[in-house]
Amino acid sequence: MTASGRAVRTGRFAPSPTGPLHAGSLVAALASWLDARAQGSRWLVRMENGDTERCLPGVGESILEQLAACALVSDEPPVWQTQRLLAYQQAFDRLVAAGLAYPCACSRAEIDAALAQQGVPHTRHGERVYPGTCRNGLDGKPARAWRFATARFEAAHPTEGVTWIDRRLGPQWQDVAQEVGDFVLRRADGPWAYQLRVVVDDAEQHVTDVVRGEDLTDNTARQLLLQRALGLPTPRYLHTPLVLGADGEKLSKQTGAASFDTRTPQAALAELDKAARVLGLPPAQQAISPSDALTSWVPQWAALYNPPP
Ligand code: GLU
Repeated sequence: MTASGRAVRTGRFAPSPTGPLHAGSLVAALASWLDARAQGSRWLVRMENGDTERCLPGVGESILEQLAACALVSDEPPVWQTQRLLAYQQAFDRLVAAGLAYPCACSRAEIDAALAQQGVPHTRHGERVYPGTCRNGLDGKPARAWRFATARFEAAHPTEGVTWIDRRLGPQWQDVAQEVGDFVLRRADGPWAYQLRVVVDDAEQHVTDVVRGEDLTDNTARQLLLQRALGLPTPRYLHTPLVLGADGEKLSKQTGAASFDTRTPQAALAELDKAARVLGLPPAQQAISPSDALTSWVPQWAALYNPPP
């Protein structure tokens, strides 16, 4: 709360240090920063290095340098997910105690075989919708993963799927049980899954506005379910347009998208200008530094995405 008693709104940028930021991730960083400034919110950077198997040493630090070169600096020292493992364990323990997480012994091949037997072509974006084999026990087999009991939770809270309003994309709907199934919270002895980490951290940091790339839109319904299961508040969501490469595919670290140039303030400014264009903002006229440009876009962002009520 502020001195006036008004709750502080909070936005955040949460990169995974699996590779340096590319032009696409700069769009999400810029949008979340502008959104925070337009609302007088705090803006936090959270380093999502909780997936220790995919994160590379030193990359988190260089991401912070890339952001700083663009005048995008966290209002508080960045939180690193590897410092937060106890919080994920505690949230997970609550789900287990509530009967909402269960161990699963299935290999991918076993999941495919069970789906084939059901005659259901459950391949959504190449992912398998878990057929529920281990819902009632492991049959003496060792656990490979822990899953969220989506079907059980939805049965106890009957609704017509999960609905939410994206501030850019409008009304959204997903039947998580049908389209995703019981999703993984943790691989046995492996890292906590993104869905659990992001929900726990957004709540802990009192995030009120999630602004991130449109490729993550499809994860939001799962996150809403986990928030409800854990009794956590749901932030507002805005998913930003993606930057496509020459091949028409979205830029991603996995496919080796190039880092962007921040060697000089002019180079950083040019990168920010490109990111702003993706967001529908005009070039920063007469800006001589990244921070000038950022300031000039705040009212324009507010007019586009935070129009007065
Ligand atoms: N760490 C995720 C990524 O880099 C973003 C998570 C989020 O914004 O919810 O794709």
